[in-house]
Amino acid sequence: RPRDLDAMLAAAAAANPHGDAVICGSVRISHARLRVMADQVAALLTAEGISRGDRVGLLVGNRWEFVAALVGGVRAGIVIVPLSTRASSPELAYILDDCGAALTICEAELAHRLPEGARRLAIGAEPDTTEDARDPFAEILATASQTLATDALPVPLAEEDLAVILYTSGTTGNPKGAMLTHLNIAHSCLVYRHCMRLTAADRTIVAVPASHVTGLIANVFALLGVGGAVVMMARFEADAFLALATAERMTFTIMVPAMYNLCLLRADFTRHDLSHWRVGSFGGAPMPVATIERVAQLLPNLDLVQAYGATETTSPATIMPAGGQIARPASVGAPVPGANIRIMDSEGHEVPRGQSGEVWIGGPMVVPGYWNLPEKTAESFIDGAWRSGDVGRLDEAGYLFIHDRLKDMINRGGYKVFSAEVENVLAFHPGVAEVAVVPYPDPVLGEKVQAFVHRRDAEIDETVLAAFCRVRLADYKIPDRFVFTTDPLPRNANGKLMKSPLREQARTDAA
Ligand code: ATP
Repeated sequence: RPRDLDAMLAAAAAANPHGDAVICGSVRISHARLRVMADQVAALLTAEGISRGDRVGLLVGNRWEFVAALVGGVRAGIVIVPLSTRASSPELAYILDDCGAALTICEAELAHRLPEGARRLAIGAEPDTTEDARDPFAEILATASQTLATDALPVPLAEEDLAVILYTSGTTGNPKGAMLTHLNIAHSCLVYRHCMRLTAADRTIVAVPASHVTGLIANVFALLGVGGAVVMMARFEADAFLALATAERMTFTIMVPAMYNLCLLRADFTRHDLSHWRVGSFGGAPMPVATIERVAQLLPNLDLVQAYGATETTSPATIMPAGGQIARPASVGAPVPGANIRIMDSEGHEVPRGQSGEVWIGGPMVVPGYWNLPEKTAESFIDGAWRSGDVGRLDEAGYLFIHDRLKDMINRGGYKVFSAEVENVLAFHPGVAEVAVVPYPDPVLGEKVQAFVHRRDAEIDETVLAAFCRVRLADYKIPDRFVFTTDPLPRNANGKLMKSPLREQARTDAA
């Protein structure tokens, strides 16, 4: 049983001290140097008065500083709270207040989005502009060959200590902080090592946001856990990704299906030298069979491995190994070591094999609950199993199929948009009488966001409402399409909004 995440990272680094740990533009950091940086970040945060168990926000994109802050936090037992660089000011204010962040490590150019008065440590600041201009991370990079006095390290840690809090959206509209322990992450590193056969020779590109579970665990921690290399890509763009994969001899990555679709749209896809690419994993959303077949045809030596999981399960709960996709095209695979998948009815009883119900996931990768939300935790986690809100079935051979969901959510290319969150914002606009937010199919992203608006005021239009959303929501949550109705939205006899006909209409309109 892996007990100590920091010790696991240190051992992997010690076995490959001169190998690349982090690559970001022209910055290359070896494993030995990253360990020194972890000590320095731990010392820096300790000097700021932050200690074991305190929360520190991390509003930094896919850059080397993200990784340095993360490993420093783990080293000192500090709980890192990664924040999406696409989050709006009100979303950031909510999360930082909810987790009681003592400090936020923040890219200088994103600092204006933090609440006024929030304590911050700026990185990447232009020299001599403001007070914030001191960049302690740049100093750490410059001095990372000399060890600081770090007498207090290592901090004694327990496996149930929190390493990270990852905020996920929810049906109530407010984000919930999933609490990832040292054990959750250490176990997940072993799952990836085993299922993707990762070694110190592997090199990943973090093309998905490092602040989300897939980038954070499957790309960053999984590779550092084996002494492999993590190449940070600031913003995904298909051409740049393919060029970087060639230049950095990428062997492994995990991305959302939409990114594979975007790569396939490049006519020169196979003109890039992708011969080192061994495992191409994908998850977060269903991958169309046509995409799987096209990738398999163009890159016959690539193992395409599907992963199904969630923030609450740290790593995947099921994996569909290469080859299995074609034999069982609609399945998300079989449970990974340690995962216990059960299909339950609405009363919480297990249904017979083959029947469909809610997917419950148990195992050492399942988080202990949501930060500060004992009631939500009690509702969503039962005897250590997380109720996923996904509807699926297990076949005789133990393969899981997902075919619906109970949660009112839109999967926009892997980014999860909970309808309630968008509806709550739009309902606040004085010109809106009522609103319903539903998905509609999109060939590249899988699903996009549509808002049906019954308006009170004929003057309001798409531009007005999109601008209203822009200051309140992350950009990917802003409806891609608004449909205005003059009639009230459909309701059942009890006055409850009926979304099924609206979902159906959005589907037909898109066809
Ligand atoms: P992971 O990357 O670990 O698979 P994720 O990044 O999608 O998870 P969340 O953003 O928390 O994590 O979303 C979890 C939800 O995403 C699941 O409950 C499910 O609805 C959907 N999902 C995740 N993976 C798949 C998949 N392979 N196929 C279909 N849906 C998926």
